[in-house]
Amino acid sequence: MSKIFVFKFGGASVKDAASIQNLRNILHNRLRNPTVIVVSAMGKTTNALEEILGLKLAGADFSLKSTTLKNYHLGICAGLFDKEHRVFSVVENYFSQLERFLHKKLSKENYDEYYDQVVSFGELISSRIVQEYLCESGIFCVWQDAREVVMTNEDYRFAKIHWEKTAQLCQKILRPILEQYPIVTQGFIGSEPGGKTTTLGREGSDFTAAILASGLKAASVTIWKDVDGVLNADPKRFPNTVKFDELDYREAAELTYYGASVIHPKTIKPLANMGIPLFVKSFIHPEGSGTKIHQVDRANTVPCIVVKDSQILVSFKVTDFTFINEAHIHQVYSELERLKLRVNLLQTSAISISIVIDKELFKLEKLIAALTKDFEIRYNEGLQLITVKNHQPEIMAELVAGKEVLLEQITRTTFQIVVKPSAN
Ligand code: ASP
Ligand code: MG
Repeated sequence: MSKIFVFKFGGASVKDAASIQNLRNILHNRLRNPTVIVVSAMGKTTNALEEILGLKLAGADFSLKSTTLKNYHLGICAGLFDKEHRVFSVVENYFSQLERFLHKKLSKENYDEYYDQVVSFGELISSRIVQEYLCESGIFCVWQDAREVVMTNEDYRFAKIHWEKTAQLCQKILRPILEQYPIVTQGFIGSEPGGKTTTLGREGSDFTAAILASGLKAASVTIWKDVDGVLNADPKRFPNTVKFDELDYREAAELTYYGASVIHPKTIKPLANMGIPLFVKSFIHPEGSGTKIHQVDRANTVPCIVVKDSQILVSFKVTDFTFINEAHIHQVYSELERLKLRVNLLQTSAISISIVIDKELFKLEKLIAALTKDFEIRYNEGLQLITVKNHQPEIMAELVAGKEVLLEQITRTTFQIVVKPSAN
């Protein structure tokens, strides 16, 4: 069999009918080899599904939001298909399944599990619409349920991959299909041993592309984005960004760790392990060279700025006149681990531990409840964590100017600050 390629199309590349037509045109000239096409939910669908579940669990009315979401998908279909096409009933049917699920009695205790059952509809619906449209427009391809291939544990919302099983299923299920047809499948979702749907963490579709590429020993992965490649800062926030033509796996992984949202943090490792190159290219300028992430032996010295929004700074102060020691840190970290909360920044002083975490529904309350008897806890929400790799004094000065800095950490290569975003 000739070389296999994996393409991933994110939410922005399938957000409306014109974008899906553009996706089709990108594929048209690039399907000479066996190809797996991984798609995300359309536009902001995952956020909308999160909100719908949030309303349901708060006992509020979610029907308006779910009707709006259904109409959004049907509207996209109307721009792509004749009125009689079966895709309309496929979409209707997915929404009936979703509503049926949401009308059950659900308790907040199992939020993570429900979350996966609900948000996975975004990818299922999107991948069906894309596959039907490709077939309709002359690119015959097969729809594959990723949950039959991507095997995970039961860590809902952050499921861990069973690599060996998944690789076997890639070979057993996907390879024979690829002998004849391209495959369209969902990013972000998998299934646990009992068969329930799991998800791999927000923006996890990139990771799916890497998982399938590694299971299939693919020749490369291409992530199609709305930017020209990996840039040294988010062009929506900073002027004069620089695109990297190539970047070492390690460097790319580090940027994603600090919150660069161009690639999902877990994407790099499986590809680096197998030496599979990752291309980040623009779906707006598909002929552009993009960025190639592979093994590069030269270190990058270009300053990179990464901004993470919606951060919470939480500080834990010991109340019993002792000083912070390992046991305190361990206690806080165990609780964070239990709640599956990742620490984006840590700072300790004689009497307190400060951590920076992402905002996640119900998690802060649970963290406080668990630790309030041993610590005096304070927190500050709605903050930004800004990381500069390869920092330079002028950049740092510009970043802090006019901002209230709540925390600062600096090493030889990395400068990090937690700030209140300026109101504008
Ligand atoms: N749809 C999911 C999300 O928005 C996964 C992805 O887009 O990669 O997080
Ligand atoms: Mg997305």
